[in-house]
Amino acid sequence: MNVETHADSVTAAVARDVKAPRSLSPSGASTFRQCARRWKFRYIDKLPDPPGEPALRGTFVHHVLEELLAVPPLHRTLGRARAICRDLWPALAGNADFEALELSTDDERAFRWNAWRDVEGFFELVDPTGVDVVDRERDLSATLDGVPFRGIVDLVDRVPDGLRITDYKTGRPPGPRFVDSRLTQVWLYAAAAAALGDDVSEVRLLYLGETGNGRDRREPTEIARPFELEAVHAAVDEHRITWDRIAEAASTGQFEPTPGLLCSWCPYRDDCPEGQLEHQRRNGLAA
Ligand code: SF4
Repeated sequence: MNVETHADSVTAAVARDVKAPRSLSPSGASTFRQCARRWKFRYIDKLPDPPGEPALRGTFVHHVLEELLAVPPLHRTLGRARAICRDLWPALAGNADFEALELSTDDERAFRWNAWRDVEGFFELVDPTGVDVVDRERDLSATLDGVPFRGIVDLVDRVPDGLRITDYKTGRPPGPRFVDSRLTQVWLYAAAAAALGDDVSEVRLLYLGETGNGRDRREPTEIARPFELEAVHAAVDEHRITWDRIAEAASTGQFEPTPGLLCSWCPYRDDCPEGQLEHQRRNGLAA
């Protein structure tokens, strides 16, 4: 397979539609693999996909941890984290997406509590005073096997053998069968960082525990792996294959739907007849 030819093909398709993305992120690739039509709705048509409560909580928690790791190590305490939460709260509460949730006073209190439990989960997994921070929210752009890659790394810190890539998660930790696929994201970050000259020695995912509704909290969980060239190559290969599939879909205009469980939560279902039928079928609704 001629990778450059496919990459050029995507570039040509992008050139025909200025709204199309010029790079492929891990989340974009994952969306395409789940459903090509959903990818098109989001990345080409740019239909609105307002963040719900879990996404806004995740953004808030990421911001709190970013600020926490910006202060000198000995000041990274729970008390300081609480003060950062208080400082950042007005900006989130005044955000149009948050206001659109129209949370009641009790629901807003639950949102803050759940976000705080995620922050506490971080402290259960990590001693922030011992983190040798190299970068927070690092914007990584690199070409991986001919594919323009872009991603934001939550934390890069120095460990004895090199640099460690960390991504925070505020959702449910994966079961054993899904661990490898969840690690794909950090392997891609490691590939991009290595392509830029970094000596990456470890990757990890930190699942902070709160899963969203306050009734389904899981133990904070760390999934860490030493740098494995084979795993990096596998992730890069999968990313390139996805890019090639996007090239093919872009050249034909055929972004096929993949009806399934996710249709019930798809923000674009009203624009997708197959997704509507799937949702009705799964929920026993009359067509
Ligand atoms: S409703 Fe289902 S099939 Fe349609 S775009 Fe969304 S996920 Fe894909």
